[in-house]
Amino acid sequence: RAKQAGRNRCHFFRRDMNEQAVRRLEMEAALREALDRQEGGGASEAAGESGFELHYQPQVRLKPHCLYRVEALIRWTHPRWGAVPPMEFVPLAEECGLIDRLDGWVLETAVAQLGRWRAAGVPVPGLAVNVSAVRFARGDLPDQVRSVLAANGIPANDLTLEITERLMMSEEAGAHDALDALHALGVTLSIDDFGTGYSSLSYLKRFPVGELKIDRSFVKELDIDAANRPLVRAIIQIGEALGLTVVAEGVEREAQHRMLEAEGCAIGQGYRFARPMPAAALADWLAGEGKHWVECPANACFSI
Ligand code: C2E
Ligand code: MG
Ligand code: MG
Ligand code: MG
Repeated sequence: RAKQAGRNRCHFFRRDMNEQAVRRLEMEAALREALDRQEGGGASEAAGESGFELHYQPQVRLKPHCLYRVEALIRWTHPRWGAVPPMEFVPLAEECGLIDRLDGWVLETAVAQLGRWRAAGVPVPGLAVNVSAVRFARGDLPDQVRSVLAANGIPANDLTLEITERLMMSEEAGAHDALDALHALGVTLSIDDFGTGYSSLSYLKRFPVGELKIDRSFVKELDIDAANRPLVRAIIQIGEALGLTVVAEGVEREAQHRMLEAEGCAIGQGYRFARPMPAAALADWLAGEGKHWVECPANACFSI
């Protein structure tokens, strides 16, 4: 640790380095350190103290109402910088080669959490985890997924991996093999931020995709800017035509909710329903404020 810190420090005194680059190096070192610390802890999350933590946000079926699954979202609190947004440190982790470890920790921690919820009778029907496109190039993802699921007694059907269109456009054969292997396992593959990446849709028929997530930018002004509604409708129709589940993210207001419902969107996620919350808070929410989402007709939406 000391040796590593010393090596990092050398960089800080290079003259041509602007403040932003220094901050990046500091952040990279801090990420590395946090990973070193938490990987040892396996499934146990550091609650309240500095480090990574997962929050979980419900995704709900709009008709009939019921809890569909929860998405794990990483949080990082640094002693000096406070809460660092994932949009800041996830891309950095991708650039500096730490994303495999970061996403690996998230996968293990979230699946173990699902196992604990189920052991405790907390009715969480499924879990979605974000996986960086960079992670797929390495090819060992299907093996990790298989062993993490087995270790925690979770059926592959209950896991969804959210990936971006960037991965679909990748030329890496290894990445394509990984998609097929994950699909063969029974894991659902979901295209996150759908509609914001590259525009070729041909990958939807080439790869075993099961779900589209309409990006928040389309949902954001759905009830304000009329131009968004035909886009959202078109995405829902693509999903219907190809037999894919469609999830709308960033649903904040009742008006957006109603429009999505009217357009036939199956699943919603956003502050309108629930915010991302720590594991313990989610269990409380399911037993209290969010109880009506659990009491779905004939338990039809639950696999547990
Ligand atoms: P995402 O996967 O598209 O996640 C949805 C983001 O929208 C989350 O931001 C969530 O907190 C936020 N959100 C949910 N509902 C609402 C809403 O009603 N209104 C608004 N304004 N925002 C809402 P978050 O947690 O900051 O994450 C940002 C992005 O960082 C994620 O976007 C995902 O791409 C990435 N990310 C988060 N966790 C991980 C992870 O474990 N691994 C990887 N590779 N990426 C992650
Ligand atoms: Mg996501
Ligand atoms: Mg998303
Ligand atoms: Mg998004």
